[in-house]
Amino acid sequence: MSADPRPHDGPHDGPVVAANHGVDVIDCRHCGFRHVTPLPDPAAIDKLYTEDFYGTLHETYIASQRANLDWWHLEFGAKYDLFEELLPAGRRSLLDVGSGPGWFVQFGSKRGWSTIGVEPGPPAAAHTRDTLGENVINDFFTPAAVANVKQVDVVHLHNVLEHVPDPAALLRTAHGVLAPGGLVSVTSPNDFNPLQEALVRQRGHARWWISPREHLNYFDREGLEGVLRREGFEPCAHLASFPLELFALMGEDYIADPALGKAIHGKRMALEQEMHAAGEGALLGRIYRALGELGLGRTLTVMARRVGEST
Ligand SMILES: [Zn+2]
Repeated sequence: MSADPRPHDGPHDGPVVAANHGVDVIDCRHCGFRHVTPLPDPAAIDKLYTEDFYGTLHETYIASQRANLDWWHLEFGAKYDLFEELLPAGRRSLLDVGSGPGWFVQFGSKRGWSTIGVEPGPPAAAHTRDTLGENVINDFFTPAAVANVKQVDVVHLHNVLEHVPDPAALLRTAHGVLAPGGLVSVTSPNDFNPLQEALVRQRGHARWWISPREHLNYFDREGLEGVLRREGFEPCAHLASFPLELFALMGEDYIADPALGKAIHGKRMALEQEMHAAGEGALLGRIYRALGELGLGRTLTVMARRVGEST
């Protein structure tokens, strides 16, 4: 998360593509992706992530992630598999931005990576340091906060860019801390994706993914790749999470009936656990990479290489 008080420079301008919850989302010509307007006060955002996010707002988040850690490890493993395919042997250092309770950092450490988290929320950072015994900087991800960090091979941003007022500034900070040829891995909700828009057209739903208190930016594959390219990265791999919208298109419409949400998430987890138990985890990984290339998936991960220098 960035505490940079400077919102992206230039006038934000573009057609309004959604107007839920009394807030407009524009497809911004200046930024090249969709975001809310007006952007909120950066001080209010800092308070949200230092005081509220792991306090009143998400007080059960650490506990619920711990309860599903075996399943989370499947997701973590799919990413580390790709990092290891894309990087030469011996390049195994990672910085996790918005590292939360620290399990992604710990997973990498156990796999032989040198890892460090950057996390503004004090309870989550304390969990990382004191409970897991992992490296963490308790701060926002700014050039000053990481000034003493040795250059790393991967910067991992999981569900971070949609929250910050200036995603491009955060990517510039990532660029600065990456070794030549290193990778940035950005995971974000895949919003305004074709399956969501099909449901809007077919079922008349309002665009249910608009959540302006927490989500300032709305990336699909094109928008995410655009901002990565502008900030000096070349996309090189994609990874989807299960396209949950398929359930709604098959009749289990969790948008109309939110009580179905837990059930369909359970089915998705069951599929992934079953495939791994059957020894088909690699096939599942290839399926999710292909879906990501199609721009599908409830979340989308784009991995992009820092350009300008060779590895
Ligand atoms: Zn803009």
